[in-house]
Amino acid sequence: MYDVVIIGAGINGGLLAQRLSKFDLKVALLEKDNDVANEATAANSAIIHSGHDPKTGTLKAKLNVRGNELWEGLCEELKVDFIRNGAFVVAVNDEERSKLKELYDQAQERGVPSRLINREEAIALEPNLSDAVVEALDLPSTGIVSPWEVTIAAVEDAINHGLHLFLNHKVVNIDRKDGYFDVTTPKAVFQTKVIINAAGVYSDEIYAMVSKQTHYKITPRRGEYYVLDRAVKPVVSRTIYPLPSEKGKGVLVVPTIHDNILIGPNSDIISDKEGKDNTADALAYVKEQVAKTVKKYSYAHDHSYLCRTSSITFGL
Ligand SMILES: Cc1cc2nc3c(=O)[nH]c(=O)nc-3n(C[C@H](O)[C@H](O)[C@H](O)COP(=O)(O)OP(=O)(O)OC[C@H]3O[C@@H](n4cnc5c(N)ncnc54)[C@H](O)[C@@H]3O)c2cc1C
Repeated sequence: MYDVVIIGAGINGGLLAQRLSKFDLKVALLEKDNDVANEATAANSAIIHSGHDPKTGTLKAKLNVRGNELWEGLCEELKVDFIRNGAFVVAVNDEERSKLKELYDQAQERGVPSRLINREEAIALEPNLSDAVVEALDLPSTGIVSPWEVTIAAVEDAINHGLHLFLNHKVVNIDRKDGYFDVTTPKAVFQTKVIINAAGVYSDEIYAMVSKQTHYKITPRRGEYYVLDRAVKPVVSRTIYPLPSEKGKGVLVVPTIHDNILIGPNSDIISDKEGKDNTADALAYVKEQVAKTVKKYSYAHDHSYLCRTSSITFGL
């Protein structure tokens, strides 16, 4: 009998396992893939956002600001890299300028370190901003990590404190019993008092195993990137965001902790949760969009290769 079974060994399941392993609890982590951090955690922008952007009044807005503060301590504990490289959100015309001011006010209200800077100062700090940039919101608390290294380190630490990790164990059924659950994978049945659903884009399917309600449905979104070779220099030292839109944070330019540059993502709603193939249209869109925020540099000289990832939205 386990006290807790966590389903899914992405960054959420991995970090929850690490925290729970510090208590006197018998914990199992079940993962369908053959390794941890294989899904959304393996391919995203890897930014520790400052908390300036989530909608005011939401739990996400509150937790993002608090979470940002915790990363130094967490990465020190797990012995993984974390860099507070900072970020600019850039405006490219007067209409965007007024939206930038709203974003600045929002950041100030929730205590996120931020300031508005004019083009001259922005260019002095990031010379490769596009000629169209008129103003920037400076967000120095923004950081970057390696999400899969964080997850691997968290799960290793948890195992050292007694976690039982089961790879290649896809949860296919959950039965409610009297005071506990039977969690079934093709290889075993796990009895547990508590289940934590950390199955990422599949968490609606796990939810449906214990509830007849159908309102919890995940619509997957795919995001695609260019990953530039380290030889492509210089581009930027900070993360560069355009103004956010209804599609999300937009096409970003993100330095990685391994010294590459990520350019992307797009954000396409797809029907297949396994639909991770790259598409020429999406990559053309990424190229077109990024030209608004940073100066063109020759793609003939880069050694870009394509990275794939998928995202989640909650359609109620
Ligand atoms: C394009 C893109 C860019 C992003 N950029 C950022 C960013 O810059 N900063 C940021 O904070 N966030 C970002 N995100 C969001 C971030 O990637 C996710 O919030 C995070 O990775 C989710 O982690 P997770 O552990 O919940 O899910 P996942 O990493 O998807 O892990 C879920 C795990 O559950 C397993 N699983 C699923 N079903 C089962 C089952 N039946 N049985 C057993 N195991 C199962 C899966 O195999 C997987 O390993 C981005 C997302 C995308 C797609």
